[in-house]
Amino acid sequence: MSRETAPTTVLVIDDEPTNIEVLANLLQPDHRVLFTTDPGKALAMAEQKDPDLILMDVIMPGMDGYEVCRRLKKHPTTRDIPVIFVTAMGEEQFETIGFEAGGVDYITKPIKPHLLRARVQTHIDLKRKNDLLKRLASIDGLTGIPNRRSLDEFLFQEWHRGVRHETRLSAMLIDVDYFKRFNDSRGHQAGDQCLRQLAEALTRSLERKTDLVARYGGEEFACVLPETPLQGAIHTAEKIQQAVAALAIPHPDSAVSGIVTLSMGVVSITPRRGVEPEELLNAADRLLYLAKQSGRNQIQSAPYPEKPDHAPTS
Ligand code: GH3
Ligand code: MG
Ligand code: MG
Repeated sequence: MSRETAPTTVLVIDDEPTNIEVLANLLQPDHRVLFTTDPGKALAMAEQKDPDLILMDVIMPGMDGYEVCRRLKKHPTTRDIPVIFVTAMGEEQFETIGFEAGGVDYITKPIKPHLLRARVQTHIDLKRKNDLLKRLASIDGLTGIPNRRSLDEFLFQEWHRGVRHETRLSAMLIDVDYFKRFNDSRGHQAGDQCLRQLAEALTRSLERKTDLVARYGGEEFACVLPETPLQGAIHTAEKIQQAVAALAIPHPDSAVSGIVTLSMGVVSITPRRGVEPEELLNAADRLLYLAKQSGRNQIQSAPYPEKPDHAPTS
């Protein structure tokens, strides 16, 4: 987070090349400066380059800086990039419009170099701290994978995408078999290490970048698989089982195996209005319970509303 760490990138959006040159000269010793004179390209560029901060002119042909800023703030990938307006229009009413559009600061020309540098640095530092906080709040401390909060957010978002596009969405709840006994026989430290290994194996087993695995709590994990029908989700569940079998973590007190095993509930739905996203997880939980009841170390799966479509596999 200090100035000496990773180089920071500032994107300058200004239709006047000489303005860009002035700003670049002031900032370049400390920051990488990218620029565009075309406000129409600004959104795509911000999305691609993910700058730490944007310096934005207000009056530009085609689209003014306020509008570019509004659009940046609407887009999930560019929403958190701080925007500072740099303009000759210092009147209060313009500044207000700038802040309402989502800008964090307003610098008026003629530019005072020390002020520009200080404000840019302040907002970059704040952004880095916010990014770090957000990351920490979404990651499970023990395993380093997303936590339940991330999963809930992701499920909510994918659910609504599924409603819009009528695509299939699958979810999986995974619970370690006889994990209390594992802790009792091998110790809590070994239990923690086991959970880390499982998290790693689960992450490796997911096929698509868009799939998410999270630590759901205790010794439970959950996956959300967008645009995946039940068969695809079962396939992933089987891959997980194989990956965990390959870890071959000794579990001397398990009643089902000599190594650590998992029980899983897998469910699939085409999200629709009138059904809440949590109901998908509840359905997965009921299938997980069935997997436990049916002897553990197995996958139980069903479309939603659930009727198991698989006899217990072991
Ligand atoms: P089942 O096969 O029915 O799932 O039995 P189980 O023993 O796995 O289930 P139970 O819910 O009775 O026990 C879960 C255990 O998981 C108890 C708890 O100590 C352990 N556990 C939960 N979180 C952690 C953790 O962060 N680290 C370690 N080492 N153990 C944990
Ligand atoms: Mg449990
Ligand atoms: Mg368990």
